[in-house]
Amino acid sequence: AAVRVSTPTSAVAADLRRIAATVAITGGAATLAAVIIAAVIAGAVARPLNRLREASRALASGALDQNVAAGGGAEVADLAASFNEMSSRLRETIDTLAEERSRLGALLNSSVDGLVALDAHGVIRYLNPAAAAVLGEAGGRPFAEAARNHELAALLQQALGASRTAAGTIHLPTRDTWLLARFSPVQGGGGWAMLVILHDITDIRRAESARRDFVANVSHELRTPLAGIKAVVETLRDGALADPEASVEFLGRVDAEVDRLVQLVEELLQLARIESGTALRVTDIAPREVLAGCVDRFSHMAERSGVALTLNAPANLPRIQADPAQLAQAVSNLVHNALKFTGEGGEVVVTAARDGEELTISVRDSGSGIDPAELPRIFERFYVVDRARSTRGTGLGLAIVKHIARAHGGSVEAISTLGRGSTFTIRLPVPATAATSR
Ligand code: ADP
Repeated sequence: AAVRVSTPTSAVAADLRRIAATVAITGGAATLAAVIIAAVIAGAVARPLNRLREASRALASGALDQNVAAGGGAEVADLAASFNEMSSRLRETIDTLAEERSRLGALLNSSVDGLVALDAHGVIRYLNPAAAAVLGEAGGRPFAEAARNHELAALLQQALGASRTAAGTIHLPTRDTWLLARFSPVQGGGGWAMLVILHDITDIRRAESARRDFVANVSHELRTPLAGIKAVVETLRDGALADPEASVEFLGRVDAEVDRLVQLVEELLQLARIESGTALRVTDIAPREVLAGCVDRFSHMAERSGVALTLNAPANLPRIQADPAQLAQAVSNLVHNALKFTGEGGEVVVTAARDGEELTISVRDSGSGIDPAELPRIFERFYVVDRARSTRGTGLGLAIVKHIARAHGGSVEAISTLGRGSTFTIRLPVPATAATSR
């Protein structure tokens, strides 16, 4: 017996197609889902990494304030935290370095001494503003060329050759400046091999030369009256004593010369006392009274030389803390000078006024005035304007005024126009609680 079973192949083929389609759709959907899920996961990891990449680029280009938000997986968050810490450390370190650098720069910039750093070939690698004022903007040029001074060049050669300090006093004739120059080798200077310090000693040299001049002046000033006295004494001894009229005249001359000697010695002593700081007897004073006393004392002299001397001071000036005798001395010196240098028909006005926290006392004259070139020097000790040598001043009067003003915490200044007159102004501090003189 036989059983024959059959089914048409078209039905099987249809089933197979259905199964294949189902497999294809399911496979496609699963792949799509897998891709989408993978993309989402990759994005979540890549985004913070991208942010990190952007931040590190910005950091590399100098923007130090980078802070990346933590995100993504634990590893990425760790990385972001380390990055943030690194950037904040970097910021701190650079801030500290910048602060130190700017402090150092401020120090170098505000140094009154010129500072120059040279490399091993003597080429300028750094110079501060004080040095630039002497050498010009000479960065990158050889020092010897910028200095244009053979003594400085020789000192540099000496220091570079022996690798040890060399120093010397140099005169720069073009600027009329004296410098104390010191070349010192630099250890571990990273390309800086030599430090040059240029210390301006012009003022010291001037003071020394003024002192030398003074000794010469004083000797001269002493010799002239002494020679005069000697001559008169000899004349008297040789017979003039027998002539009573001539004797009186000669004695008058001796008297005048002695007066001059006494004045010179007194001024010298006074200056020494003020400078030593022991001379001040400060009390509460009414400045107007002191000024009135000075004007009074010189009224005869003014009258004799035909000069109008007036006081212009309000009655309600503030009281000040001062030594009345010293203040009177300072104002007297100014009034005396003003009268000396003002011709007949001129005027001298002493003015006092309150100017904020200061009392100003000025002495204005319509006299000869002072050459602008001399003006900055007239307060120097022993300085006498050449033209004025004939007045036989010692050059101490204004120095005494300056020292008295300073001893009172004040100052003195002068303005002048040649041929038109001068104004000297003393400024003294007024105590905050000052009563008015009235
Ligand atoms: P001295 O004691 O020789 O007068 P000072 O120190 O008082 O010396 O003055 C210094 C110089 O300043 C004087 O030689 C004089 O030439 C000048 N001077 C001072 N006061 C006046 C003035 N009021 N007018 C013109 N020149 C003046």
